[in-house]
Amino acid sequence: MSGQIYDICVVGGGPAGLSAAVNAWVRRKNVIILGGPSGRSKVNRSPKVDNYLGFPGISGDELYKKFLKHVENFKIPVLPDKVQNIYPMDPLFSLQVKDSLYECRSVILATGVAAQKGLNGEENFVGRGVSYCATCDGPLYQGKTVTVIDYTGEGAEEARFLADFCTRINYVAMAATVPEFKKNNIEVITKDAPVGITGEGTVKTLKTQTRTIETDGIFIFRETYPPTELVRGMEIEDGFVRVNRKMETNISALYAAGDCTGKPYQVAKSVGEGLTAALNAVSYLDSLEHSTP
Ligand SMILES: Cc1cc2nc3c(=O)[nH]c(=O)nc-3n(C[C@H](O)[C@H](O)[C@H](O)COP(=O)(O)OP(=O)(O)OC[C@H]3O[C@@H](n4cnc5c(N)ncnc54)[C@H](O)[C@@H]3O)c2cc1C
Repeated sequence: MSGQIYDICVVGGGPAGLSAAVNAWVRRKNVIILGGPSGRSKVNRSPKVDNYLGFPGISGDELYKKFLKHVENFKIPVLPDKVQNIYPMDPLFSLQVKDSLYECRSVILATGVAAQKGLNGEENFVGRGVSYCATCDGPLYQGKTVTVIDYTGEGAEEARFLADFCTRINYVAMAATVPEFKKNNIEVITKDAPVGITGEGTVKTLKTQTRTIETDGIFIFRETYPPTELVRGMEIEDGFVRVNRKMETNISALYAAGDCTGKPYQVAKSVGEGLTAALNAVSYLDSLEHSTP
């Protein structure tokens, strides 16, 4: 923990998060972006964006670079930290990343949506064998067999960490590159996509396209955590963060913007919601300054 308290922590470095940060900065707030390790957004995957006003035919990659440049020009810090948990601890929030904590007065959640659908049965076993954070839950599996499903590449380091105290690791490689491991208790599984999770009370197996793997726990690494895992107690509706027109969630001073609040999945909607969230967070912060102690 640095000891610094930010006005606003923006979680997510896509169009929604960058727009929120720019608008908070314009209103002279002390803002930071925790953007995850990829340094990218979904829009980077679009070869051609034809419907973002003013930039017909631009590639998604180029559009995102323009967004980032805007943020860089304002010298807003964009850190590659992936936020694992957000703890509302009135009047401050604590945001847990791998090795440290950030503290702030308000949070704007802009984490997008996962490219992959949840696995069959996954939801039923969250907290009962399914986890998204090896640092948080790994120690529970000392001397046991666990499976790491890695869609992003960040799971390789986590598999190495788990291999120090788990008996056996099944590493299901789903990211673009397949890592190498020196530890001989890690088995790498390639070209065999996971399909479902089964168990009785707790996880017992992971089913892939070709086999059934017996396992005591499953760690899943995707670009985005399910929002319910990120903030306990935050209301979800049809799988999306529930917000009102001010982009307020049910938790005071916690706002959400972009794809994570629901369809349409579009850059313009994300940018607009990021702005709305930021301006309302600014009003909230200003009201704190003007309230009597
Ligand atoms: C192939 C493709 C083509 C598209 N074409 C168009 C188009 O033509 N026009 C259009 O308007 N839209 C298009 N879209 C949709 C558009 O890309 C999205 O609507 C937009 O990127 C959503 O912005 P966002 O900021 O909400 O989320 P994202 O862009 O998904 O960004 C979310 C960010 O949050 C980060 N993150 C997630 N979890 C965490 C965490 N726990 N901690 C820290 N960071 C985290 C991610 O790494 C990412 O950087 C397209 C999408 C795709 C995939």
